[in-house]
Formats: sequence, C-alpha cells, structure tokens
Amino acid sequence: MKSKKELLDFNFDNSFSHNLEDFFVSCSSEPSSSPQLLQLNRKLAKELGLNPDLLDSEEGLDIFSGNDLPAGSDPLAQAYSGHQFGGFSPLLGDGRALLLGEVIDSNNQRRDIQLKGSGRTPFSRGGDGKSALGPVLREYLISEHMHVLGIPTTRALAAVATGDQVNRDTLLPGGILTRVAASHIRVGTFQFGTALGEIEKIKKITDYSISRHYPEATNSDNPYLTFFECVSNAQALLVARWMSVGFIHGVMNTDNMTITGETIDYGPCAFMDSYFPGTVFSSIDTQGRYAYSNQPSVLSWNLTRLAETLVPLVDDNQEQAVALLTTAINNIHPLYQGHWLAQMRPKIGLTTEDILDEELINDLLSIMEEGQADFTLVFRRLSEVLKGNADPIKELFKHPQSCDAWLVRWQERLAREGNTKDLTIKMMNKVNPIYIARNHKVEEVLSAAVNQNDVKPFLDFLLVLEKPFDEVKGNEAYSSPGPVSDIPYKTFCGT
Ligand code: AMP
Ligand code: MG
Repeated sequence: MKSKKELLDFNFDNSFSHNLEDFFVSCSSEPSSSPQLLQLNRKLAKELGLNPDLLDSEEGLDIFSGNDLPAGSDPLAQAYSGHQFGGFSPLLGDGRALLLGEVIDSNNQRRDIQLKGSGRTPFSRGGDGKSALGPVLREYLISEHMHVLGIPTTRALAAVATGDQVNRDTLLPGGILTRVAASHIRVGTFQFGTALGEIEKIKKITDYSISRHYPEATNSDNPYLTFFECVSNAQALLVARWMSVGFIHGVMNTDNMTITGETIDYGPCAFMDSYFPGTVFSSIDTQGRYAYSNQPSVLSWNLTRLAETLVPLVDDNQEQAVALLTTAINNIHPLYQGHWLAQMRPKIGLTTEDILDEELINDLLSIMEEGQADFTLVFRRLSEVLKGNADPIKELFKHPQSCDAWLVRWQERLAREGNTKDLTIKMMNKVNPIYIARNHKVEEVLSAAVNQNDVKPFLDFLLVLEKPFDEVKGNEAYSSPGPVSDIPYKTFCGT
C-alpha cells in the first residue's frame, strides 16, 4: 500500500528547471519549528489536480512549511533584475521564495507552485528569506479577493504559521504562503537575460515564454514583436482592471510585473476608499511614483524596459527593431484606454458605445474627487438610483446635490440603451462589488490573527469576500468605509 506521502503526488512537470539553467539557482527550504496550517485553499487544490484531504494532513503541512520537499520537485530560486522605483538593480532574484515546480492543472494549464517565506536563497543578500505572518495572510486574502473580482492574479494555496519569529524591527510571528502562478517570469527576468550579455540568453527566455504563454505568437511574421504586443495587451488589461476597482498595487517595479499579466506581489497594495487620483498607501513610495493615477503611465514605462530587451530579437537591423517596438510602445496607451473604457462602461450600466461615454465617466470621477466620495460605494449605489432612491448615493458626496446634474445626464444616456431597469441593475451589481478588502477590515482581521492568535475574523472576512457582489443583510460592517482618520493609511512591504 502507498504511504500518505506517496499518495500526495503533485505530478510535477518541471520545464523551467529543465530549460533555463542560466535563470535560477537550485536550493532548498529552511525548516519551520512548529508549523500550523491556518488556511488551505481546497478548491484551488482540486483545480491543480491535488487531493485537498491528503494535503490537509501532517504530510501536507510538512510541504507547506518547507519541512519536507514533495516528490518530483526541483526547488529553485529564480534570478531576475529589476527597476525599483526607477533605479536599476542588475541582480535581485527570489530572495525569500522557492519554486517547487510546475503542475498541469485541470484546464491543462501549466502552473508554478512556490513557497514564499521559506528561508534564505543565494539571492537573499542581507535578508532572512522569511515572511512575517501578517503579510502572508494579507497576500492570501487580497490575492484570492482579486481572483473572485475577476482580476488576473497569482493565487494562494496555503497559509502556514511557522512557529518561528522573524525580526522586523520587532519580533513577529513568521509565516509561509504557498503561491500559485501561471509563471513567475517578469519583465525583470528579461532584464536579467539582457544583463547576461549574450543574445542567445535573451532568446532562450523569450522563446520559452512564447511557447509557455503566447504560443499563438509563433505563427506571426515577427513572433518577438507579437510577443511584446501580447504582453502589452495582458498588462494593459490588468491595469485597467485595477483602476476599475480602485486598486493600488503600490510597488510596480519591473520585477513585480509578470509577463502573463497576473497581479503579483501583494506587499503594499490596497484599495482606495474615497476617490482621490493621487492616492498612495506605500510608506516607501514617498514621491508617489506608484500613485493610483500613475499606474497607466508606469505600465508603459515598464513595458518600454521589456521592449529594450527585445531589440536584438525583433530585427537584425537595430534601427528597424527600435522603430517597430516604438510603434508598439506608442500603442500601449490607446490599448489601455480601450480596456479601461470597456471596464468602466458596464460599471455605469452601459452595454453600447457612445463617443461621449469617456467624458461621462470622467465627469463622474471628477465630482467624486471633489465630493470625496467612496469609490466602491458610488458605483454600487448607482443601481439604487434606478430603483428610485438617489439618497444612498447622494449621501456619499460632501455636498449631496453635487451629483444631481450628472445623475440626470447619466439616466438620459441609459435611456438610449434600451435595456430594462431591472436588467441594468442586475448587470451593474455583477460588476460593482459591495464588499472589497477595505483597509480597516484587513488590518482588524490581521491584527486578531497575529496578535491574538485568533484566525476566525480572517476566515470570516475570506468568506464575505468570496461573494463580493451579493449584498447580505448583517454584513454592513464589511461594506462601510473605515472611520475617518487624520493619519493617512500606510502600508509596508515587509513580507
Ligand atoms: P519585493 O519588494 O517583494 O518586490 O522584493 C524585492 C527583492 O527583495 C526581491 O529580490 C526579494 O526576493 C527580496 N526580498 C524581500 N524580502 C526579503 C527577505 N526577507 N529576505 C531576502 N530577500 C528579500
Ligand atoms: Mg517582488
């Protein structure tokens, strides 16, 4: 009879470790002293072809805590470079993450399984390679929330408390997140390929990325240019999705932008409450480089860094390569704008396109900014207006009557849609969440888990966020903005 460990077969099918020897260093995890499984994503486990009942065991915990490596894994730390807040670091790499391997999921998609916080790697520099538990739970909560909101993201398979302490100014309980991603290849991986100094190396990572993520590019006249356009499209869509829910990533360095267009790295991210385009939460982003309204221009900036790495591949004639890539770069903003409009129109109930829609949406945002209105609730309460009650939305504005004229204009535009009010309400409530991971709630549940050893509020919040579009009586505490404070909300990278 097979032992439990043998039954717990991940069926790894590792391609990164077999093909890209210049882009990683093999290494191992450090043990955890008394690990505890705080949360297992049973649904995701099934999707990955894993048995959640077998994972929810001592043997599963051994894997999620870095105490035992699953059979067939090729544990490694990936190498990458990155522009961090505009400054280039030629060698970053996974300093606190360990790729266990790849599995083929039930949709025939290749997925990475990675431990985050499992100890030092050759890229750790002065760091300890560990994660504090708070940021682990934060990433679990927000990445799963993003997934339910329909936003491409890395996923969370498990969260473990290690039983050890990590030193972050003070001693904090440690944790490990098991992260799942379409891959962990980033813009910074390409920059690292260029830094290796041989065209063959950048070709290798690009060919690998094309065959893994954009195989359709192979058939085009210029696969490398098409690859760039595919990545641009995926990232432009991603940023448009962020903007549509008031999400601020907070650390859009080139090492934190995946080429698949999945949100990665949930360090200092947060959702904004009242609408203010200049909102910045990250304590280290003192210049506001990654402020909410800067995200679309940072998108282009980062993709330009990717384009630079592809110059030698796009055409033998450098001038021609630069010209082709420049055209593609110039197309990023219109591409983003198209995605943004496509995200915003349904938020105000529109199913057709009118040349004035962009202005209509921007005018709403302007009055929201002036009126310091809550981003999430304004969109959600638009549907109340169609039910005949404008008071709930009006009370979100500092001067309630400031939105009257816009509401009239909007309803005139809606009248030209020809849809019934019921249908419009239904459609809007499917894209405008009522429950988001509000900062005050996130802090509250993390504090209970970390400081009082009580994970129940975290688990309750996870459950609420599983259905962000369905209003539930009694859950008002989750939908209301936090108490107004004179001290601006700050987030920290400290995973
Ligand atoms: P991030 O802020 O998550 O994008 O990380 C930037 C770089 O710092 C990456 O190379 C990380 O691997 C590394 N890093 C962050 N925290 C640690 C840590 N505790 N120990 C070692 N390396 C770390
Ligand atoms: Mg990172």
